[in-house]
Formats: sequence, C-alpha cells, structure tokens
Amino acid sequence: MNNEQLWQAVLGEIEVNLSRANFITWFKDTFISSFEQNKVIVGVPNAFAKKWLEEKYHKSILGALEKISHQKISEIQYRVELKRDASSRQPINNYSFSNNQPANLETTPSATPESRIDGQKTNSCGLNTRYLFENFVVGKGNELAYAACKAVVDRPGEIYNPLFIYGGVGLGKTHLLQAVGNDLLKKTSKILYTTSEKFMNNYVQAVHGGRAKEFKSVYRNVDLLLVDDVQFMGGKDGTQEEFFHTFNELLQDNKQIVLTSDRPPKLIPAVEKRLTSRFESGMVVDVGKPDVETKMAILEKKANEKNFPLDREVLSYVAGCIQNNVRELEGALNKIIASHQLNKVEPSIKSVKNILSDILANAQPKNTTPKDIIEAVVKYYGITNKDLLGEGRKKELVWPRQVAIYLMREELNTSYPTIGEELGGRDHTTAMHAYNKISNELKKENEKLKQELDSIKQLLD
Ligand code: ADP
Ligand code: MG
Repeated sequence: MNNEQLWQAVLGEIEVNLSRANFITWFKDTFISSFEQNKVIVGVPNAFAKKWLEEKYHKSILGALEKISHQKISEIQYRVELKRDASSRQPINNYSFSNNQPANLETTPSATPESRIDGQKTNSCGLNTRYLFENFVVGKGNELAYAACKAVVDRPGEIYNPLFIYGGVGLGKTHLLQAVGNDLLKKTSKILYTTSEKFMNNYVQAVHGGRAKEFKSVYRNVDLLLVDDVQFMGGKDGTQEEFFHTFNELLQDNKQIVLTSDRPPKLIPAVEKRLTSRFESGMVVDVGKPDVETKMAILEKKANEKNFPLDREVLSYVAGCIQNNVRELEGALNKIIASHQLNKVEPSIKSVKNILSDILANAQPKNTTPKDIIEAVVKYYGITNKDLLGEGRKKELVWPRQVAIYLMREELNTSYPTIGEELGGRDHTTAMHAYNKISNELKKENEKLKQELDSIKQLLD
C-alpha cells in the first residue's frame, strides 16, 4: 500500500464518524506528505485546517492510521503544504469533493416551495423564511462558511461553538446565519435571531423599564442564538457585559451561538478582550467575494426562481460586469427582469448591456475625497479624528494613520505633500514612508491587512 492508498483508507475510516460537511471542511486537500519510521507528516491546505486537525481530529487520525497500517505510529505532524503532482494523485475524487457542490446534497430538496422564496415573511424567531440552505449557491469564497453552518445544523452546540462568520457586505452572511436558524426550526422553536444593535436597544430599554430579569431569561433560554453584525457591539459597555454573560451561560449549557461580523473578532474596535476571545473560542470562518462561475450560478438560480431564465451568454456577461457582491448582482438581475418584462422583449447581450451601463454609470460618480478616507479609517478603527491627525505614537494610532495615507495615495492618487497636509500637517516624507510600508506589507500577502483595506473601502461606497 502506498501513502496515497493508505490515506484514502484512513479518510474512509474517518468519514464514517463525521458529517459530510465536516469531513469536507477539514479533510479536503489533505494527504500524507511523508511516512518514515513510524513518523507521519500530513500535508494540509492551510493553517486553519492544521489547527483543527491537531486539536480535534488527531486522535481519530492516529487511530485510523494505526489500524490500517498495522503499526504503531510514534508521531504525526501536520504541515501546511500544497499537494505536489496533483494529477497523479486523484484520490480526492473518490470522495467527490467539489467546489461547486453543496456538501450535503442528499438533504437538499429538489424544489423549494415558491412561497418560501418570494415571501419576505419573518417568523416569530425573527427569521426571514427566504433565507435557506437550499437557495444558497455554494462556490469559491463561501464553501467553508457553508460547510461550517451545515456542520452546526448537524450537531448544534457540539463542535463549532460559537461559530463566527465574517466578510464584506452583501456576501451572504445574513443568509447563511438565518439558514442555520430556519433549518434548526425542525428540531426546536427556541431560536432567536437578533442584531447586535437590536440586542443593545432591547437591553437598554429593559433596564430602564425594570425588566432586566425578563430580558435575561429570554436570551438565556434559547437553544440557538443568532447575532448578526456584531461589529457594532463595540463601545457599549453595559451591553457587552450582558452579552458576555449571556454568551457564557449558553455555551455552558451547550447551546449553539452563531455570529456574523464584517471583520474578524480581533479587529472589532472597542470590544473587551474577554469578549473577543469568546468570539474566537469556537470556529472562525470568512466569506469572500464569489468568483465568476459562482456569480453565474447565483444569477442562474435566481433568474430561474423568478421564472425568467437567461441564457449563458447573458449570465456570463452580467457576472463579468458586477464585481463587488451578491447583493449588487441581485439588484442588476431585478433591473434586467423588470425592464424586459416591461418592454416585452427577449433579453440579449445588447439589451442587457444598456441596462447595466446605466447601473455601472450610476455607481461611478462618488467622488471620494481625502476627508472621506479619513472618516472611513476613523470609523473602522474606532478612533477619533483627533487621534488620527494628532501626534500620538501608539501603535493603535500609527497603524490607522499609515493605512489612511496608503489609501489616499492608492485610491485617489493624492500627492505626498497634500497627504501630509490632510493628515494634520505632516511632512511629505512621512507620507511616503507610510505608503511604502503598507505596500511592502501587501507584497508579503498580509491577509489581515487586505481584509482591513477591503472593509475600509466598503465604508467609502
Ligand atoms: P451580508 O449579510 O453578508 O451583507 P446577505 O446575506 O444579506 O449579505 O446577502 C445579500 C443578498 O445576496 C441576499 O439577498 C442573499 O440571499 C443573496 N446571497 C448572497 N450570497 C448568496 C449565495 N451564495 N447564493 C444565493 N444568494 C446569495
Ligand atoms: Mg448581513
């Protein structure tokens, strides 16, 4: 048996005890990188998977390896490595890992009742009945988040708790979050969907109205708590305190919590450390922008749902034009459908081009200024204008300053002297230095920084 066959057998062993979603999340693109004298090195695709295999699946892997190889294994190391020579290993197909397929096809009904797709109804748990797994298109950018949500539905409160999903606007976070809720309604009605702002308002009102106890009992007696947009939790101390305790109590009772945010836990401004570390204590996954194929699949699905099928040429054209997020994609599709229905014409590239050029032209005229950038940066990092423009040398201030400089240069092509001027009368060499520093970081593939820049740019829209 070579390493490849051995690993296939090990995967087969492990798969039996895992849900499909989990299995795909953690074992996709893993392989045996080397096996020498009882020591095994398992190649994994990223640091995230490495951590989880080490922490959660080491025992199962070890057990399976020993069982199948009929020998004692003294050590397993997990190492981030790309599979070499992928063509000659084709094991993965045996398990039909695929980027574009939902992980749990067998549970996906072939058709979703019309009323549930079009109705904007919200049920008593605060869930919109339209947000379901069945109408969520899985592709690059969201497959990990999707799989994690599916895993939560399979075993709520057991494995990924809390589950923290983050990513830019319009990428499907709320959809996924509510899909978890809608799906778990099959098992329990004690589900609560809220946003961090609603949580805060309710809490403040309850305290003022002498109903704090009632508030606590509502939030602490659920089986599933879904909190959307926790990036707005920052700063509100009393609320944070309450949230923290709610959190602890639910986790202690193995009740499932799922959270979303536009950024990773550490980057949420003005949130207490203990809360950040709670956010991070389960599983953190991101959703990214869809690639062209995923965008096409989403468009196709939505067009069909609306009984207005479009041909591939048109789908591909629209997917190519709309860059940022799924919400814009939906907006464009709605306009296309409305316009064609109104004018009673068949969609063609030409007619679609006309409509899109309107949308794209309307998207243009935002005239961003250096002040807008300052405003966005300040908001993002949770600091004040004075902090940013002042003399403070603390890292929490210097970094946002450098980011602001970078963005002014990169987005607006502002001259270094003007940048210096805008940032509280600094020297142009300071601006130059900061720009170079951030550029160099980006060259090092600093993912965290990329994410920060993306989020700030979204605040400019
Ligand atoms: P976010 O909460 O990340 O800002 P939403 O969940 O509100 O984004 O998504 C915006 C819109 O795009 C919603 O109507 C949602 O149904 C749709 N959407 C996003 N991602 C997908 C997807 N992968 N498949 C189908 N619809 C999607
Ligand atoms: Mg949302």
